[in-house]
Amino acid sequence: MTHKAGFVNILGKPNVGKSTIMNALVGENLSIITHKAQTTRHRIQGIVNHEDYQIVFSDTPGILKAAYKLHNKMMQFVETAFTDADILIVVFEANEKLRDEELLQKIKSVECPVFILINKIDISTQEKLEEEVAFYKEQLNPDEIIPLSAKEKFNTDTVLRKIIEYLPESPPYFPKDALTDKSQRFFVSEIIREKILLYYSKEIPYSVEVIIDTYTEEETIDKIRAVIYVTRESQKGIIIGHKGEALKRVGTSARIDMEKFLGKKVFLELFVKVHENWRDDEQQLKRFGYTE
Ligand code: GDP
Ligand code: MG
Repeated sequence: MTHKAGFVNILGKPNVGKSTIMNALVGENLSIITHKAQTTRHRIQGIVNHEDYQIVFSDTPGILKAAYKLHNKMMQFVETAFTDADILIVVFEANEKLRDEELLQKIKSVECPVFILINKIDISTQEKLEEEVAFYKEQLNPDEIIPLSAKEKFNTDTVLRKIIEYLPESPPYFPKDALTDKSQRFFVSEIIREKILLYYSKEIPYSVEVIIDTYTEEETIDKIRAVIYVTRESQKGIIIGHKGEALKRVGTSARIDMEKFLGKKVFLELFVKVHENWRDDEQQLKRFGYTE
């Protein structure tokens, strides 16, 4: 049998379940998932390897209007994802009648096969679902329309089967034991950011960036020093909390998840620093890894 391989890019509005879908298809928690919009800031590749095929998924930030330079960088990842796919997956929510003319036009202009995924059917009705399927069929006439629930892993196997069907013949792009393009450092910093998204409210999660200062691998333990950057002194106080309790909670739960992810003991130290406008500072964004 000939070998198949290709790039499958997952796009859509914030919170529709893009990261949940990629994690379900890859079978690993590569992308952090929370109920908050803008959880995913980078383009994250997840690779599925099989003797006969290799699928390189890209999870992307949700499509939004930019308010900071940070958002511009995020939307550049999205723009590229529209153009460099072998198969484009656009995700919508079954119970949310979203009619975004600009997005529809963009999807129409794509030349590769397009799959429309209607997600979260577990919290929708048959009637709404049928309405959405009819709408996208009529508007976009995509190659495939697949309703699913990524959370309950319902119909995710169909998505995978269809992808393999459409995948072009090609040798693999990455070694067959590769799971992602991102480093251990990246995933470790994302685990900390996920806890901050979960434990703090209002503008805090959106003001935070996490940088791994040092990462020392020893035989039985990984020693990690991370810096949490915020934009204001007052946010620093909130992150740390009374007697350091809030930060301690972040550290403990992040460490537990890191140990699961790495399969190894972790010693984690967290520091909080203020960098006033990192979201609009070109140099700082570069240092934080927002480049293609
Ligand atoms: P993204 O912003 O598009 O990457 O969305 P996420 O994958 O981060 O998911 C956003 C929220 O939707 C999270 O709270 C998920 O648990 C939830 N979610 C994702 N898929 C489903 C689904 O199939 N059903 C339901 N009910 N919730 C889902
Ligand atoms: Mg996401």
